[in-house]
Amino acid sequence: MHSAQLARAIPFFPYPQAFVPEEDDLTAIFRDVGRRGAFILQEDLRRFEDNLARFLGVRHAVGVANATDGLLIALRAAGVCAGDEVVFSSHTMVATAAAIHFAGAIPVPVECGADHLIDPEAAERAITPRTAALLPTQLNGRTADMDALRGIARRHNLAMVEDAAQALGSRFRGAHAGTFGDAAVFSFFPAKLLGCLGDGGAVTTNDAGIAARVAALHDHGRDAGGEVAGWGLNSRLDNLQAAILDFRLRKYSAAIERRRALAALYRRELQEVGEIILPPGPDRDPDHFDVYQNYEIEAERRDGLREFLQANGIGTLIPWGGKAVHQWPALGFTQHLPFTERLFQRVLLLPMHPWLSADEITTVCRAIRRFYGR
Ligand SMILES: *Cc1c(COP(=O)(O)O)cnc(C)c1O
Repeated sequence: MHSAQLARAIPFFPYPQAFVPEEDDLTAIFRDVGRRGAFILQEDLRRFEDNLARFLGVRHAVGVANATDGLLIALRAAGVCAGDEVVFSSHTMVATAAAIHFAGAIPVPVECGADHLIDPEAAERAITPRTAALLPTQLNGRTADMDALRGIARRHNLAMVEDAAQALGSRFRGAHAGTFGDAAVFSFFPAKLLGCLGDGGAVTTNDAGIAARVAALHDHGRDAGGEVAGWGLNSRLDNLQAAILDFRLRKYSAAIERRRALAALYRRELQEVGEIILPPGPDRDPDHFDVYQNYEIEAERRDGLREFLQANGIGTLIPWGGKAVHQWPALGFTQHLPFTERLFQRVLLLPMHPWLSADEITTVCRAIRRFYGR
């Protein structure tokens, strides 16, 4: 590649940006935590858990090693048992289904709707006498219609665990993702909305009993008094990562506003292109406050567009390696979900992160218009 091209390259996600702009602050945090020897279950973690709970308006937050573990722990803490069925949208990370599997339950994938989130009617149709829980994924920074889903859970006496790995700060009718279900889970993987410098996650709940079970399950089964109250895992959020997350949470609202502004810019630049369908704009629907973890479009001739953008130095991503969860043969699903399967021939993620400039968005959009001959 020529250097002129390199200078214009727009990666899908620039991982060094998760460190370099804050290098001095982060190094000071390493030193402070290291000199105190404060590595596991220390005050920085407690402070972050409290601040996260306050940000969301939820009673309890417990740091865990990653969101996949968090989902497993949340399902068990919410009462899901071996042999139970758990209904989820097949348009999610395989981690959502893996957590159900490793909780001993049976993952039941269902269709998503036009907004790419779980279709409540499809979820309700999938319920059987063995169904124990709904597990909606709050995908791409948007929260599902939680009134509809809570109505279904109530009618069928189901637990609800939210996969909010992509939705910190997203709201539906004023309430945050992560506050609707019996429990919810967030991810702090570096490319997630609030990222740390490695793996991390949190479980949130308003239920003191579930919070106590999560706390025990994530720390060798030990209860608040140090007694082993049952079998448990080691799945704690490192105190160092928590200190970094607490520092970043203080500036988080600005990062969300940046993402929403970039989404508005994409919409302005692309709304005339008939070959693509854009995510809802940031101010389109008063019920939804979207935070744009991803900018997921539907595109005609998707693979050609992706290659064309790649040749122009623009990185994109096809969600989840190109398949919905139920489409991976090794996982043994028998469901046929035609809407989701068609969608997966069309979906593409454009660059979306708070370090993206308006000029870069303009460059991406100009290339897309050129591909479609506009
Ligand atoms: C990232 C992600 C996960 C898994 O999060 P980890 O912290 O990497 O385990 C689960 N579900 C969804 C929807 C995700 O995007």
